[in-house]
Order: sequence, then structure tokens, then C-alpha cells
Amino acid sequence: MRRTAYHEAGHAVVKYILHGRCGDLSISADGSGFCGGCGVPFRSPSDAVKVCLAGYAAEMMSAGEDLAMEILILSIPMVKDFSEALEIIKNDPVTKFFAGEGQVFILNWMSVQVELKQWWAGVEALAERLLVAMQVSDSEAKYILASSEAKAGGR
Ligand SMILES: [Zn+2]
Repeated sequence: MRRTAYHEAGHAVVKYILHGRCGDLSISADGSGFCGGCGVPFRSPSDAVKVCLAGYAAEMMSAGEDLAMEILILSIPMVKDFSEALEIIKNDPVTKFFAGEGQVFILNWMSVQVELKQWWAGVEALAERLLVAMQVSDSEAKYILASSEAKAGGR
């Protein structure tokens, strides 16, 4: 439950950073979770990749875990969010300027963790609210993130 709440909060926070919306969020007692689309198309495939990766990144960061690169790569086919991200990377024309899709994946994985770290107060506030309420609407999520941003002195 706790991991799921942080997972969905991670998706929502990165969506918020990228285009100011979160989507509706919910978690269930069975440990599943949902972070709705926000009805705004992503500006670039790389934005979509970051949103995909943000769930697991936030989940791991909340548990204080650090995934070794080898394990990260091996888990791509097993984790739906990861395979989705890899699919987007494969179809993104920008990928051909890099050494390969694995490199683009890792770059995005690292940069999403930097962004989540900067916004950690917001991730926590949203995840904790989600654990209590089980669902948080897009507008409530935006309100929570805007106030945690203000508390942190703005960015
Ligand atoms: Zn996810």
C-alpha cells in the first residue's frame, strides 16, 4: 500500500512538473494503484518516458532502495511501466542520436530521480494523503503539490 501510494504519487508529480496537471489518483487495499491520464498530450516522447519511469523511481526512493543498473536493465521486460517506456524510446527519432535505447532509458531513469528528489516534499505529501483518502482528484493533487512547493520556497 505504502509503496503503491508513492508509486502513483511519483507518476503524478512528474506529470505536474512537465505540464502542471496530475490526473486522478487512487490506490486499493489489494495493493494496486491508478494514476489517470491528464488529457494533455505530452510535448515530447521523452516527457512520456519520464512519467512512465517516475512510478518505480518514487517507490524505490521511498523505501530507500537503489536499483543496480544490471537489475534495472534485466527488469525492463518484467515491469509494465518499464516496457512501456522502452517502447516509446524505440519509436522516438531522437534515440538515434544516442548510443542505443538502453542509454536513453538510463539517462531518463537518472534524470527522473533528480526531479523527484527536488520535489520530494510534494511526493511525500501526495502519497501520505493518498494513503489516508485512497483517492485524490486531479485538482486536490495540484493543490497539495502547489502548497508543498510554496513551503519549500518555490522553484
Ligand atoms: Zn506505474
